[in-house]
Amino acid sequence: MRKWIIAIVTVILVIALGVAIGFFIGNQEAEDSPEILEDKVLAKQNKQEVEETNELWIATSRQEEKTTPSTEWILKTTYNDCGHTIEEKQNIPTMYVNLTKEELKEKLEKEWNIEKFSREQVVLSRYQHGICKEHYVLREKDGYIAIYTLNQYDQEEFLEMTEISVQYLPELDVENLKQGIHVTGKKELNETIEDYE
Ligand SMILES: [Zn+2]
Repeated sequence: MRKWIIAIVTVILVIALGVAIGFFIGNQEAEDSPEILEDKVLAKQNKQEVEETNELWIATSRQEEKTTPSTEWILKTTYNDCGHTIEEKQNIPTMYVNLTKEELKEKLEKEWNIEKFSREQVVLSRYQHGICKEHYVLREKDGYIAIYTLNQYDQEEFLEMTEISVQYLPELDVENLKQGIHVTGKKELNETIEDYE
């Protein structure tokens, strides 16, 4: 009788051990089971798709660049009669913020041409009749040199007097001042005035 009991207990122990070992090995295999491998491949594919989607998004957003409140706003006007181009840097008007190039084109007045468009900088250009505001004429007035500007119709308008007396200037300079000395731009104006001082 005791031998039987020992035999049964032994069989039960062997079976239990077998089950335990089987369970352990099963777990080991489960880690790299085809199902899990498939999941890993899927995860990798997903990651790749997400990356591709991101790249596409970046490319699209680059195409649809929009103006921002800090976009540099540069206006270039070329005057037909003198050929000078005057460049003005301004703050972007609120009504032109957050627009794509196409949207901006629709909102702008017809005379403006979009020369450059990016998030950082917009350059607009146009042509205008007449001459620019950078034309000056020096003349003698009441014994002193006076500065005149030329308006867009090429007419002289008094701007201001200088403290330079024509009294001691060489005769040729006095003669030139009577004819009017034309200069272009503030730099040239200041240099010419300094020459007489
Ligand atoms: Zn000009």
